[in-house]
Amino acid sequence: MAAESETKKVVSQFELTDHDVNAATLEFLRQMDEGLRKDGTSMSQIPTYVTAVPDGSEKGVYLAVDLGGTNFRVCSVQLNGDSTFNLTYNKVAIPKELMVAKTARELFSFLAMQIEVFLKEHHKDYYAAQIKKRRSGTTRSSEYLRLGFTFSFPVNQLGINKGKLIRWTKGFDIPDAVGKDVCALLQTEIDKLGLPVKVAALVNDTVGTLMARSYTSVGKAKSILGGIFGTGTNGAYIEKLSNIKKPTVGEYDKSTGDMVVNTEWGSFDNQLNVLPTTKWDKILDDASVNPGIQMFEKRVSGMFLGEIVRLATLDLIKNEKVTLFVDANSSFNDLQSITTISRESGLFKQWGLDSSVLSVAAADDTPELSSLRLELETSLQIDSASLVDAQIFKAVAAAVGRRAARLSAVAIGAIVLQSGKLNDPDTDVVDIGVDGSLVEHYPFFRAMIYEALKAIDGIGPKGAERIRIGIAKDGSGVGAALIALVAEKMEKDNSNVEDVEARVDDLVWNTNNHNTFIVAGVVGVIAIAALWWARQRS
Ligand code: ADP
Ligand code: MG
Repeated sequence: MAAESETKKVVSQFELTDHDVNAATLEFLRQMDEGLRKDGTSMSQIPTYVTAVPDGSEKGVYLAVDLGGTNFRVCSVQLNGDSTFNLTYNKVAIPKELMVAKTARELFSFLAMQIEVFLKEHHKDYYAAQIKKRRSGTTRSSEYLRLGFTFSFPVNQLGINKGKLIRWTKGFDIPDAVGKDVCALLQTEIDKLGLPVKVAALVNDTVGTLMARSYTSVGKAKSILGGIFGTGTNGAYIEKLSNIKKPTVGEYDKSTGDMVVNTEWGSFDNQLNVLPTTKWDKILDDASVNPGIQMFEKRVSGMFLGEIVRLATLDLIKNEKVTLFVDANSSFNDLQSITTISRESGLFKQWGLDSSVLSVAAADDTPELSSLRLELETSLQIDSASLVDAQIFKAVAAAVGRRAARLSAVAIGAIVLQSGKLNDPDTDVVDIGVDGSLVEHYPFFRAMIYEALKAIDGIGPKGAERIRIGIAKDGSGVGAALIALVAEKMEKDNSNVEDVEARVDDLVWNTNNHNTFIVAGVVGVIAIAALWWARQRS
């Protein structure tokens, strides 16, 4: 059948053989090393100055916000001091127009407004008390809630709560913000609203994920990597200080011999030495706001997978040998009908096909592909798609999803090899925390990663068995709170401990809220040192 062979032609272009995976892994290791030696490389390998991971016994209430790419989350985390915490959050989609706003102020004032909404909703009494104190002039900044800001874009971190935006990714484009301190941008807008909140820490989501995962990982398992597979993709891992050859700006605690490095692996192989490139990858890149960069991310993460499938599908629709989503008459369609696609269908619009449709396609193993066909109808306004149509779509979507998972294994596998942990007799399990809608919801994404890991030289089936990839649910929120806590400890010389305790007592914790849940984590050992920051203060 022509349709089948034409589909196979498309699908085969997304194949990444075991040999390709190995070649890409070696190149990943090479580019990691290059990033540790000098600036201006494709993988930025940004030192985070996080040299170890807090001790879990801390108490306090912290705010955390997470600007990830698709959603903005505001949460408060209560660390109970006995390894458990409570977490409450609100989540809003970031309006598309704000992603390309004229000024940074527009975006950051929206973020500050969401913090205000959250405080009014979840910490009403505290909010009211603070506003009253402020009006009577008795407020003290040491009483302010400390906020950890998870900002998942490349940043040149200059202090625990200071970092300049290097560039936007994931479809954001607000030139005005580039080069500015994103914490200051947020603090300014928070202050305009008179909120009792201090931006205490700036955290990359990958680092937050690694922190939160270390906090809960058990026994001899050591978390070495926090990876994000959401709108975008990136990872932060524990590197030996001796491997970080490029100059670092300040002083920090060298006692652990390690430092967390934010790889910015979304830009792995921008030069395309090893990354697979189809015609559709090229079209996607040319039409993106940042052609030529984030090339790995553009093949791996949620923002892009749907678009690749969309472009490949459009080509098949145009291919006269295939008759995808077109019927000569109703007898050509198993529903005895004619397929119709609305002109308004997302199939005809850039970014019009959400990656969640790929998940539905992958999950549907029914003979009629009924849930996929329903999804095509509701998400893409394709009515009465035939079984063959759905099969073609499923095959293309699966190929794109599988390539993404195998590329993800390249990043994970390279970092496992770099850590040397598989050869360490003291390490049973090499733990990896991951977060993001793609890895959480795409069926068998992790299974496909494991399959590829087994094929990597130096890992193999035995090594892959010792690698544990676990979801760090809400890791970025918990991680940001943990780092905000450390930031607060560092400023405690200046702060009155009683104020901090009063603040915690003032907060009424509403455990009836449906977003609140209690996680009884096992305490890992978490301790962050950023002494260079202390030095900057003095
Ligand atoms: P963020 O990147 O903002 O932190 P998420 O981790 O939720 O947010 O990732 C959002 C991305 O994941 C979007 O690009 C979206 O298309 C994609 N996505 C959402 N749901 C699914 C799903 N069920 N399967 C695959 N991808 C999904
Ligand atoms: Mg995220």
